[in-house]
Amino acid sequence: MAIKTSKEYVESLRELQIKAYVGGSKIDCVVDHPAIAPHINTVAKTYELAHMPEHEEVMTARSHLTGDKIHRYTHIFQNNEDLVKKIQMLRLLGQVTGTCFQRCVGLDALNAMYATSYDADQAHGGNYHERFINYLKMIQEKDLMLAGAMTDPKGHRSRRPLEQEDPDQYVRVVERREDGVVIRGAKLHNTGGINSHEILVLPGTGLRDDEKDYAIACAIPADAEGVLFIFGRQSNDSRKMEGCGVDLGNPRFGVVGGEALVVFEDVFVPHARIFLNGEVEQCATMVNNFATWHRANYGGCKAGNADVLIGATAKTTQILGTDRNSVVRDKLTEMVHLTETNYGTAIASSAQGYKLPCGSQMVNPMLANVTKQNITRSVYSVGRLAHDLAGGYLATMPSEESFNNPEIAKYVEKYHVANPEYTAEDRVKMGRYIENMTSVTTMVEAMHGAGSPQAQRIVMLGQSELAEKIKMAEEVIDGTNDAEGIALRKL
Ligand code: SF4
Ligand code: FE
Repeated sequence: MAIKTSKEYVESLRELQIKAYVGGSKIDCVVDHPAIAPHINTVAKTYELAHMPEHEEVMTARSHLTGDKIHRYTHIFQNNEDLVKKIQMLRLLGQVTGTCFQRCVGLDALNAMYATSYDADQAHGGNYHERFINYLKMIQEKDLMLAGAMTDPKGHRSRRPLEQEDPDQYVRVVERREDGVVIRGAKLHNTGGINSHEILVLPGTGLRDDEKDYAIACAIPADAEGVLFIFGRQSNDSRKMEGCGVDLGNPRFGVVGGEALVVFEDVFVPHARIFLNGEVEQCATMVNNFATWHRANYGGCKAGNADVLIGATAKTTQILGTDRNSVVRDKLTEMVHLTETNYGTAIASSAQGYKLPCGSQMVNPMLANVTKQNITRSVYSVGRLAHDLAGGYLATMPSEESFNNPEIAKYVEKYHVANPEYTAEDRVKMGRYIENMTSVTTMVEAMHGAGSPQAQRIVMLGQSELAEKIKMAEEVIDGTNDAEGIALRKL
């Protein structure tokens, strides 16, 4: 089968029996629910763009297994060029949708499983990698949407999995059978799972020898028996239920990734879908590989989202009539500078990748972590500048209904106009986008998605080779490596 069209993606979701709860109630079909529709539309764009000749190069790749043309979201990174193209794809999708398009978690989980199943076989002599390759061929062939599920609820944060009062605070194997295993637990903040075909379950942390039951990596169909999704609440999400358009801010594509709590209530997983089972030594590597790839992503997707936010802010300044002001232009420049800096580090981390033992390509870990760390700050800085330039109106805009009620429409239209070249509705449309895309939901996703800030700082310090830097300082100040030619003066 070729790369799916956006229509085929939506129709294929309709065929699944995904068990999902929104606002506390079970829903019949994810495709028809207004809370999920904008997130489905966003993923549909990832399929749609892969069919456009002008985007083919970044949106598609050649399978290293079959040589077939595949969606880049099912590809195993082969070289630095693949890593760079991924970041370019993320920026493009961020620009087109202005939000999170969800598929990157599954892609990075796919790559992490590919690499770690190889490592596990090298260390223990199993056949996980071969199994995984068979699974991967199926994914590429059917062009399925994958969600990665990594973050366990974790219970008491200072206790290990076995020390928890409830042992299900980390996903674990509760039964081992001839034909596979049964798993129980849950994963939080699951991006895109509710509108995916497959869930890739990864361990959420490094594990110790006595924690083998928690060392499980596997693939589960999103509608498998025992899997259920509880959709999270987002800023302003009740507006979707009220049938609002403009007030949603990003009415077609939603706000961030439609995160859900995914519960695994004794889910059976056959051997063919298990890619790590008890090998605690490989868990930390799997987590690290996933996180490192995913951290670099944020320089792509958030740059694309920021492009749209900068556009909405710049347009708002035209609507206000402040666009010629030099201070306003300088603040827009600052937004651009922050955005391009993030994109630059993401591209750099991809251009300076290295080969893993399995043959796939890892990004430069220092630069990937720097990218994500910068995002945790600059998304707030960019949002702050957007608020600054758009003004207090962001917090006091009239609702869409005000424009539909003839009794008051004339007043809101009259008194909310600024530059008369634009209507009050033009102003509200831009304002709602800025409001929604700089909300708590969006900011917190940028802060904690792909790992909280401290997680990046630990890697940055670990990668910094401080001892080497001390030696450099000693050599420069007291050393003997004088330039050839003129002897340097000794202190
Ligand atoms: Fe992709 Fe960005 Fe969404 Fe993560 S936050 S899934 S990198 S778009
Ligand atoms: Fe994310």
